[in-house]
Amino acid sequence: MSHIRGLEDGTSEIRGVVLSSSANEKIVDGLRRGIGALFAGDREEHFVATPVISRRTSERAGYPTTFPQLLGAVHGSQDGDEPTATDLVLTSAACHHLYPLLAGKVLGAPTCLSVEATCYRGEKTYETGRLRSFRMYEVVRFGQAGAVEQWRDRALRSADQWLSGLGLSTRVVQASDPFFGRTGDFLARTQREQQLKWEITAELTEDLSQAIASANYHKEYFGEAFEITNTDGSETHSACLAFGLDRITLALRHAHGVDTSDWPLAVRANLAL
Ligand code: AMP
Ligand code: ZN
Repeated sequence: MSHIRGLEDGTSEIRGVVLSSSANEKIVDGLRRGIGALFAGDREEHFVATPVISRRTSERAGYPTTFPQLLGAVHGSQDGDEPTATDLVLTSAACHHLYPLLAGKVLGAPTCLSVEATCYRGEKTYETGRLRSFRMYEVVRFGQAGAVEQWRDRALRSADQWLSGLGLSTRVVQASDPFFGRTGDFLARTQREQQLKWEITAELTEDLSQAIASANYHKEYFGEAFEITNTDGSETHSACLAFGLDRITLALRHAHGVDTSDWPLAVRANLAL
């Protein structure tokens, strides 16, 4: 039986929404531990976030204008009337939960936090691994421009080493986000020109590779939006490394098989399976 129902066998009634078995969750737990170990040296604190976030935070992060096609909102009825928009939207990226924590603060030292959230994106296609609801584990680093960019490069390299050590044939490729509309084309071009976004890809099926992790250098974008500064008064720069927990699990099962007891010993040991 498939460990993620609905992904390969079409058993899900709702496209892009899946149910994960406990065998599958053991792999996800192993991944959480692995990522934690990878960043044990620089991460100060880990958070688990809700699948909803304040609309104000999403707006401050610029998501409704840059990705309106992906955003989902929570509607509710106060008194049994027609449901209307509430002050909550669905989490689009795990790291959005961290910026309000630091809003208005002066960061005395480089800051590194991590967070996991179930994210929603209104994807239009549903090939393997393209879900509308999925788990994202992000490590986010704040600080001075040069140091943050160097951290992004280092983090990307060590994530790639760890993922290939799990037996995945990974590739590190430059990427851009699917920003909305004509302004979006410009944003994506700038993102590519400045090499702000990189993805680690792996095979999920014989003829399909997907990004299993992404590293983004935001420059001062979130520092400015959430008024986070360095001690010298400059806006803090930030970068995040996002792991797609469900996609990594799919890639592992494609590489090693459905039953984890058949997986290579080194991989099982690495994930404590
Ligand atoms: P992004 O913010 O688009 O760079 O996404 C961060 C990571 O989340 C990606 O590298 C993927 O591993 C994962 N991810 C993004 N979109 C989806 C999706 N629709 N379904 C499953 N995983 C996703
Ligand atoms: Zn992020």
